[in-house]
Amino acid sequence: MSTAAEGSPPSATLRRVRVRVDGTVQGVGYRPFVYRVAAELGLAGWVLNDERGVLVEAEGAAGAIETFIVRLRADAPPLADVSGVETEDIPTSGEPGFQIVASERGGGATAPVTADSATCEDCLAELADPADRRHRYPFLNCTNCGPRFTIVRGIPYDRPATTMADFVMCDACQAEYDDPGDRRFHAQPNACPACGPRVRLLERDGAEVEGDDPLRTAAQDLLDGRILAVKGLGGYHLACRADDETAVAELRRRKHREDRPFALLVADVEAARGLVTLGEREVELLVSRARPIVLARRLPEAPVAESVAPRAPDLGVMLPYTPLHQLLAADTGVALVMTSGNVSDEPIAYDDGDARERLDHIADRFLVHDRPIATRTDDSVVRVVRDRPLLMRRSRGYTPAPLELPIASPRQLLGVGAEQKNAFCVAKDARAWPSHHIGDIKNYETLTSLRDGVAHFEALFEVAPEVVAHDLHPDYLSTRYAQEREGVELVGVQHHHAHLAATLAEHGETGPAVGAIYDGTGLGSDGTIWGGEILVGGLADFERAGRLAGVWLPGGEGAIREPWRMACSWLTQMREPLPAAFEPIAQQRWNMVARMVMTGVGATSTSSAGRLFDAVAAMCGVRLEVSYEGQAAVEFEALADPGAAEPYPFELQPIAPVIMNPQPAIRALLADLAAGVPVSVISARFHAGLARVTVEACTLAAQRAGTDLTLLSGGVFQNRLLLELTSAGLQDAGLRVLVPERLPPNDGQIALGQVAVAAARLADA
Ligand code: ZN
Ligand code: ZN
Ligand code: FE
Repeated sequence: MSTAAEGSPPSATLRRVRVRVDGTVQGVGYRPFVYRVAAELGLAGWVLNDERGVLVEAEGAAGAIETFIVRLRADAPPLADVSGVETEDIPTSGEPGFQIVASERGGGATAPVTADSATCEDCLAELADPADRRHRYPFLNCTNCGPRFTIVRGIPYDRPATTMADFVMCDACQAEYDDPGDRRFHAQPNACPACGPRVRLLERDGAEVEGDDPLRTAAQDLLDGRILAVKGLGGYHLACRADDETAVAELRRRKHREDRPFALLVADVEAARGLVTLGEREVELLVSRARPIVLARRLPEAPVAESVAPRAPDLGVMLPYTPLHQLLAADTGVALVMTSGNVSDEPIAYDDGDARERLDHIADRFLVHDRPIATRTDDSVVRVVRDRPLLMRRSRGYTPAPLELPIASPRQLLGVGAEQKNAFCVAKDARAWPSHHIGDIKNYETLTSLRDGVAHFEALFEVAPEVVAHDLHPDYLSTRYAQEREGVELVGVQHHHAHLAATLAEHGETGPAVGAIYDGTGLGSDGTIWGGEILVGGLADFERAGRLAGVWLPGGEGAIREPWRMACSWLTQMREPLPAAFEPIAQQRWNMVARMVMTGVGATSTSSAGRLFDAVAAMCGVRLEVSYEGQAAVEFEALADPGAAEPYPFELQPIAPVIMNPQPAIRALLADLAAGVPVSVISARFHAGLARVTVEACTLAAQRAGTDLTLLSGGVFQNRLLLELTSAGLQDAGLRVLVPERLPPNDGQIALGQVAVAAARLADA
């Protein structure tokens, strides 16, 4: 024992520290938590939110200070995510007591705004308690739950910077807000029936429906088969009861939403179990704070109208994530369709005036409230694959949580994403903030959404992009938007390289890795349309190590909507006669496409895996035409026999770049069709064959590149069967396999990839 310590025992020594806490620590009850811990330990000092996070000064017995520092991380409140605690000793001041100091502005900001969080157990108990002053109040929340990202207009995260700014707290709410011992201490959206937002039920013409409980009336409307527009957290939904075919079919007709499945809201896990098969992982996701839509296999006996999800094997189910949804689900006691408030591919409506205009011809009545929505945010969508979550859409509940880039950027960045399933991403140093889902930017409205979203993120995270990364495709509106930005440097990133880089980045890897990137279409470095790629590379650059054999893509967009064209392309190339499935296609149309393929006029060459799926699905008669991209492939996958299947033979031409030729597989498929083999078997054999050749090609490329790291991404890998077979095969070959988990494998990950590539290149330069 050292003699220095003997003179004064540590517990008696007075010590003062300044502690910097980084991470998600604002708007999550962190300051009251610090206050309570300091009070318990008898410490003096203060805590405040600043632009970076939380700053604390604490003074007291040295032993208590030690404990305090440990507890700042170990006992943090449920919504907090502490990424760093830096401590510095400073002179003692002898001040009495511990205080929470009001927020101050100034300095560089990286203070995180958190994601919206589902209603907590304590709040749910109050909601259901007739004696509570917030009984049935649809906007109750506390520091452990409630709206965040969707109501935030700026930073620091305090009430004046949210859409709650105009609601003045009543005395009771203010007392909770000011009391460090209260669950609502500094809960920015704190509200009650006396002072907070109100819900109203309106007729189409704007007249308020009479009655003292608009929610009960709305619930009765739904039970009666009416279609309601419901203003939720990130936008308007359209709702009706899910077991009423007349109501659902009418909603589908009014919405022009041809075949896309509608999501369902149910009161609890038990109700969800009445609709779909749920494993442990699915349940975890359903009850998680993010409350995404979880896609799961529908039960044959599920009491759900045919029009909810025509021909789809899965249903998308979610649990209530706000008190308003909680009350609607409980009051109706039935599964409700809860689908985006929009017409076909438009963005979800979130502004009150706009919603009234756009949804006027769809909804019978409007269930609205007077708390504005700051940012349009769709529901997130997830499915479980390989016992891990696979996000199909990352938005409400997840955004704006940041990710760490494996290579920090010397300059501030913006990635504008691709065209479909657009999301953007801003980055500073090693931090990247992938945005909420913006949508398909094919029109002015979604482009505006992208512009507004970028401006909001720039303000929120104080990022001023100096470098803007974009897709190589010159016609994407996202690319044009990048080019319109003034005073910035542009970096073009190849689409499939962005998929690879995004997957590496979210796993904190830099490569080199072999990536099988399978998607619909993306412009290649050689000017042709890629989409069945074996790439080798890291964050900064890549090589095309292999691909699917090329075929003509007849008629661009037309080929996506009409999968029979891709079948025609392959069959014409192979000089195969027409299978029976194509009888509904007029000979004249078929000949026209065949001529395109033979001459190459009006056609581009493509290696797209998505289009190959379209072709074989069409050959099997699954779908000759579709109403959304990938529909034929989704249905083809759903038909697959779950048991082991003999893989169809793909030819592998091993000289680099390796070519995976599906022709022998297609021949075998045609023979099976002719022999009357069921489509379930054909589908299983096709999946097995494509997975096998992908594993072979990746193994070869990995050997050549001297790496054991592989990854799978691109929209085609939303296909559970293909993803499972391929990743299992790669693992059996002794390779490591990365799969996107925190961002989707589809184009929702492109912006993160663009940012990761730009950061790596700038760091290299
Ligand atoms: Zn709560
Ligand atoms: Zn109040
Ligand atoms: Fe893509």
